[in-house]
Amino acid sequence: MCRTFRVVHSARLLFCIVLASAGCSTSAPTSPPTPNDGKLKILATTGMVADAARQIGGDLVEVTALMGPGVDPHLYQPTARDQVRLKSAQLILYNGLHLEGKMADLFESLSHQKRVVAVTRDIPENRLLAWSDSAGMHDPHVWFDVQLWEIVAQTIARAYAESDPQHASEYESRAAKYVSELQSLDRECRTLAEQLPAEQRVLITSHDAFHYFGRAYGFEVVGIQGISTDSEAGLKAITDAIDLIRNRKIRAIFPETSVPRAAIERVATNSHAKLGIELYSDSLGAPDSPAGTYVGMIRTNMQNIVEALRP
Ligand SMILES: [Zn+2]
Repeated sequence: MCRTFRVVHSARLLFCIVLASAGCSTSAPTSPPTPNDGKLKILATTGMVADAARQIGGDLVEVTALMGPGVDPHLYQPTARDQVRLKSAQLILYNGLHLEGKMADLFESLSHQKRVVAVTRDIPENRLLAWSDSAGMHDPHVWFDVQLWEIVAQTIARAYAESDPQHASEYESRAAKYVSELQSLDRECRTLAEQLPAEQRVLITSHDAFHYFGRAYGFEVVGIQGISTDSEAGLKAITDAIDLIRNRKIRAIFPETSVPRAAIERVATNSHAKLGIELYSDSLGAPDSPAGTYVGMIRTNMQNIVEALRP
């Protein structure tokens, strides 16, 4: 569009708005077209992504989360109702790195129709951990390193600015505020972790979701099931965990809200380790609970881990 036309067009639009607001009769629309009451319509997959999307978008966006509390993203298959929500969203935000393992083809096909963004896309490869079971793939559970989630926050702000350029500076300033909240959460997590002697910092959980957490906050991490939940815990993984608990005198091990408890309960029974409070691994807690936001989920996990492992 040439500049002259744009100026004339803008002046005409402004004239129509002035006429309309003055109550004059005109055949032009009374206000510029504003789809969805002006709010950017976002579909986010996990609760963690949806929460970051809300924090950064504020009143400018309407965020729907596909997966509620306790839902396992590795195995999630979209329902017919989800397909409608995915199609009607203006922007889709998903974790990526194969977390939503059953939805890759759907995202690929939707990406030809609208903006579909993996929120982990800007994390430098050298800060990603390998997926031990699959060559060339990376562990998707990046939200457990709060510093990596700061990068995710900036990616979401950029995706918003691309979709809604006129509010770019608002998204940027909301993201800056959120990042500063995350920085303080990260410091809080380090202070809590330091309450445990180094030899007590061993985190045994149902599945391998906590390697980023372990790297960030100095814990040795063992998951009884693999990185994805689509295979069951093997006998060797169970006996190795029992030996580790006995040899290292580990006080507690942890079930997760989005993973069946059978394997971890079996380890607890056979090792006499205490079963800690369920950790929030791949989903948030209920919306009105302390773990109903990303910040609350990380804080609740860390408090429960430190409390259970404390000598
Ligand atoms: Zn997982």
